[in-house]
Amino acid sequence: MTDATEADLTGGTPRPRPEGEVEKIGDRKLKPATMMMGHGYDPMLSEGALKPPIFLTSTFVFPNAAAGKRHFEGVTGKRPGGAEGLVYSRFNGPNQEILEDRLAVWEEAEDALAFSSGMSAIATLFLSMVKPGDTIVHSGPLYAATETLISRILGRFGVNWLDFPAGATREEIDAVLSKAATGNVALIYLESPANPTNALVDVEAVAASRDAIFTGDTKPPIAIDNTFLGPLWAQPLKQGADIVVYSLTKYAGGHSDLVAGGVLGSKAHINTIRLMRNTIGTICDPNTAWMLLRSLETLELRMSRAGENAAKVCEFLASHPKVEKVGYLGFLDRGEDKRQADIYRRHCTGAGSTFSLYLKGGEKEAFAFLDALKIAKLAVSLGGTETLASHPAGMTHLSVAEERKQALGITDNLVRISIGVEDADDLIADFENALKAV
Ligand SMILES: *Cc1c(COP(=O)(O)O)cnc(C)c1O
Repeated sequence: MTDATEADLTGGTPRPRPEGEVEKIGDRKLKPATMMMGHGYDPMLSEGALKPPIFLTSTFVFPNAAAGKRHFEGVTGKRPGGAEGLVYSRFNGPNQEILEDRLAVWEEAEDALAFSSGMSAIATLFLSMVKPGDTIVHSGPLYAATETLISRILGRFGVNWLDFPAGATREEIDAVLSKAATGNVALIYLESPANPTNALVDVEAVAASRDAIFTGDTKPPIAIDNTFLGPLWAQPLKQGADIVVYSLTKYAGGHSDLVAGGVLGSKAHINTIRLMRNTIGTICDPNTAWMLLRSLETLELRMSRAGENAAKVCEFLASHPKVEKVGYLGFLDRGEDKRQADIYRRHCTGAGSTFSLYLKGGEKEAFAFLDALKIAKLAVSLGGTETLASHPAGMTHLSVAEERKQALGITDNLVRISIGVEDADDLIADFENALKAV
C-alpha cells in the first residue's frame, strides 16, 4: 500500500449519504435543531446504536485491493469525485464527518471542516490561502492570537496586512481595499462583533466594496470569525461572506469542556482548506467530535436561554447607579450610533450573551466587583453554560500597548461578561450583591 502521505493532495471526500436520511417532510425543510439528532449518521452501520460510537482508529481497512486503489485514485485526484470512503485518520473519521455535516446545516453551507482548535482552523485557513508577497486585509481589532498570527508569524514569511476598524463605513473600506489592490490581496478577514469593543462589521459593505474593486481571478474570498454570534444570531454567508470560521470551544461546544474549531463555506473553498488540513493534521480528534455532536443537539436551547438571560441581566445592570455603561448589542437601537444599529438590524437575529460592563471607577472597583461574585466564575472564555466574568485590561489584553487600549475602550473599569443558562433572577441577585461590594 502507498504511504498515507500520498494522499496529502486530497480534494473533497464526499461520502454516500446515510440511507433513509431525512432532510424534508413533504415540502417542509427541516430546521437545524431537528437535524442535529440524526443528520449524517446511519445507526444500521453501527449495530443499530442510536448514537454514533467513538471511532478510535488511526486507519481504515479496504474491503479489497481494487477498492483501496479506487480510494487512492479519488484521493489523489486521478479520478474526479474524491475518495469514496475513509482512508487514514489524519484526513478524516466517522465522528468528524458527522460533525462536519451537522455544522454545515446551521448556516446552509455547502461543506464544513472540523479542527483541533479555533486557532488551528484560522491558521490552516491562512496557510491554504496566502503566499509570500500577498496581503491580508482585515477588520480590527481581532482576537489577539489571530492578530499575532497575521502580523508576527505570517509577517515572517513575507505576508503583508492592512486593516480597517470594525465599524468602518463603505468609503473607509473602499479606501483600504483600493490601497491593498495595488498588490495581490489573498484574503479579506473579518471578525464581528470585535472583542471587546463589540463593534459590528458591515459584511454587506465589505462584499460590495470587494466586488467593485476586484474582478475575476484577483477577487479575494471574504472569511469571517463568527464565534461570538454564530450560528444562532448571525449567519454571515447570507451577507456575502464566503467562509465562516468558528472557535467551537465557545458557544458551539458550550460547556467549557473542550477546545475545537470549524470552517464552513463553498465546496471549492473548503477543498482548498481541506488540502492543507490533510497535510498538516489540524483535524479534531474523534472524542472531541463526539462531544460536539452532543453539544449541537442543545445548541439552540442553550443559546436561546443564554440570550434571554443576558437581555434581563443587561436591563438590570444598565439601570444600576454604580454602572457607567453597558456595551450590549441589544441596546444599539437606543444609542446614538445609528450606523451600528443599522448593521445590527441587517446582520443579526439576536444580541448574544457576551457584553461589556463599565463600572463607575477604575481597577479597584472592577476587582471588588469581580471578587464578590458568587455564581459567576472569574475566568476568560465565553459561550459556556456557566456565567463567566473577566477583566480585559488586566487579563486578556494585559500586553496591549496603553495607547491602543485607550483607542479600543479597554479601560480599567471594564468587565467582560458571558452569560450562561442559569436562572436569570439568580444571576441578577449575584450581580446586585457584587455591586454592593464596590
Ligand atoms: C476563542 C476565540 C478564538 C480562538 O479559539 P480557540 O478555540 O481558543 O483556539 C478565535 N476567535 C474568537 C473570536 C475567539 O473568541
